[in-house]
Amino acid sequence: MSDCLFCKIVEGKIPSSKVYEDDDILAFKDIHPARPVHILVIPKKHITSLATVSPEDAPVLGKMLAKANEIAVAQGSPDGFRVIINTGRVGQQEVPHLHMHIVGGPDPVGPMLKRV
Ligand code: 5GP
Ligand code: ZN
Repeated sequence: MSDCLFCKIVEGKIPSSKVYEDDDILAFKDIHPARPVHILVIPKKHITSLATVSPEDAPVLGKMLAKANEIAVAQGSPDGFRVIINTGRVGQQEVPHLHMHIVGGPDPVGPMLKRV
């Protein structure tokens, strides 16, 4: 997608602090970290969100999850982390290229969500 921020990061047209890359996925530091460790993991292929995935996207989605611990440990979150995938309007997704946040660090990340 020519006008997609994260596709431009994949293409190297916009710089990023890469921490992991293979043929299918890219991981880089969030520009505005919410925790000491805050990594975004994306499919290199443009997928808009979890609301638009196809059955053939299952392997790349699995790979994103399967790599999460390795990335978290390497970045300084050895005792666990949290994964967040904001989706669509209700999920308050800001960048319309599917991305998985890995947040962590030395200390617990805090409560999940306020209960209603
Ligand atoms: P969302 O709210 O869509 O789940 O998260 C988008 C994330 O992308 C935000 O945490 C934001 O800080 C991050 N972000 C937005 N623009 C850029 C950018 O140009 N580079 C990097 N590395 N992160 C970005
Ligand atoms: Zn994209």
